[in-house]
Amino acid sequence: MKMVNVILAKRAGKELTQEEIQFVVDGIMSGHIPDYQLSAWLMAICWQGLSHQETAWLTDAMCKSGDVLDLSAIGDLVGDKHSTGGVGDKTTFVFVPLLAAAGIPMAKLSGRGLGHTGGTIDKMEAIPGLETSLTKEHFIKQVQEVGMAIAGQTAELAPADGKIYALRDVTGTVESIPLIAASIMSKKLAAGTNLIILDVKCGKGAFMDTEEKAKNLAETMADVGKALGRPVTAVVTDMEQPLGNAVGHTVEVIEAIETLKGNGPDDLVELCLSLGSLALVAAGKAKDEKTAREQLSKYLSDGTALGYFRKLVKAQGGDDRVVDDYSLMPTAKEIYQLVAPGNGNSKTLWIKHLDGRKVAEACKLMGAGREKKGDPINMAVGVVLSAKVGTKIEPGQALATVHADSKEQFDKIRETLLSAFSFSDSEVAKPAIIKAQVR
Ligand code: URA
Repeated sequence: MKMVNVILAKRAGKELTQEEIQFVVDGIMSGHIPDYQLSAWLMAICWQGLSHQETAWLTDAMCKSGDVLDLSAIGDLVGDKHSTGGVGDKTTFVFVPLLAAAGIPMAKLSGRGLGHTGGTIDKMEAIPGLETSLTKEHFIKQVQEVGMAIAGQTAELAPADGKIYALRDVTGTVESIPLIAASIMSKKLAAGTNLIILDVKCGKGAFMDTEEKAKNLAETMADVGKALGRPVTAVVTDMEQPLGNAVGHTVEVIEAIETLKGNGPDDLVELCLSLGSLALVAAGKAKDEKTAREQLSKYLSDGTALGYFRKLVKAQGGDDRVVDDYSLMPTAKEIYQLVAPGNGNSKTLWIKHLDGRKVAEACKLMGAGREKKGDPINMAVGVVLSAKVGTKIEPGQALATVHADSKEQFDKIRETLLSAFSFSDSEVAKPAIIKAQVR
C-alpha cells in the first residue's frame, strides 16, 4: 500500500477501508509516514470528512497505538467524564467527588490548557503539593481505596493522537469533527473506563461555536462509542459565556470548593447535577433522573462530596487544609473591580451577551494561559464575574473582580475584559446550560 494513494482516495471523497486507516496509523507510529504526507491526509479529511464507520476505525487504531488501561481490578463499573474544553470549566472538581460519593469509582484522566481553554491538571496544581502525574499502579490503587483519582494523561495512552494532534495544531486541521471525535474517543477508550459522560461545549468560549456543530460532534462520538462496544452519554452544553463566575486557576479551585460546600453558582450546580444524574441512571444506581438529582443535591448540601474532595487532595499528596484556608493557594497581590460604564443619568441595563473567549483572552494577558507548550502559568491571577447574561446592571455597578499582580496588569486587560460584555436596555433571559442530549 502507498500513502499517496490513501491521500488521493480521501481527496477524491472515497470511503477508506479499515486496512487503509490501520496502514496510516501504523505508519505514524513506525515513523514511515513523513509529516508532509500525514498533513496532506489530514487536510483531505478536513475537506471531505470521514463516515462514522471510518471515524470508528480511526479511533480504534489510535486507541490501540499504545497502552490500553485495564481497570478491571477496580470493579465492573468505572466512571469518567470528558469536556471538549471551555472557559471557567471546573466541573471535574465537583463531578468526580459527587459521583464517588454516590458509589461510582471515578478514574479521571485530564489534560492541560489547550488554546484559549483552561486545563483541569493546571488548575489542580494550584493546590500545594498535589501530584497530578501518577503511576498506573498509584492511579488504580487510589481509585480502589479512595473511590476516585484525577491524573494527567500519559504519553503512552493513544500516542498516535499525540503525533496527529501536534500536526493538526500547525496545519489548520484542528476544526474537523471526525478528527476531534477520534482524538477524544481514542483517549477515552484507552483510559479503560466503561461509564463515559461527554460534555460537548458549544458557543464562543468553545471549539464548536454553534449548537449544530456541537450536536454533530456529540452524535459522532456517541456513534463511535456504540460501534466500538463502549456506549457513551453525550450532552451539549452552553459555553457562550464562561461556566460559573471564576476564570483562572486558584479562583476556579475556590469556586469548585464553594460549590462542594453548597454555595456554587447556578449554572455550575445545574451542570454537575444534570451530568451526574444521567451517569447515576446509566449506571443503574438510581431509578430515574429525579431521584438521582435529589441524592446528588444532598451530597452537595451535607458535605459528603466535600469530604470526598478532601480525601482526593490528601491521597495525591496535596495540602487538604486549602479546603478551609484558600490563602494557602497562590494568591494575587491586588484586587480590582471592573465597573459598568455610565453615570447617574444613565439607564438600567441588562447583560445581553458575555463573550467567554474575550474573558479567557484577558486572563491569558495576565499570564493565566500559555503562549506555547511548556510555558509557566500564573496560578494566582484571574477574573471573578459578578454579572452574567440576564443580570440587571446599574451604571457603575461591578461587572467583575480582577485578581492581578499589579495595577499595570489590570490596566492592560481592562478594555479586553470590558469588551466581553454587551448590554440591552430591555430585560434579557438567562440562558439554559443544557442544550441537548445524545445517547
Ligand atoms: N480535545 C482533544 O482531545 N482533541 C481534539 O481534537 C480537540 C479537543
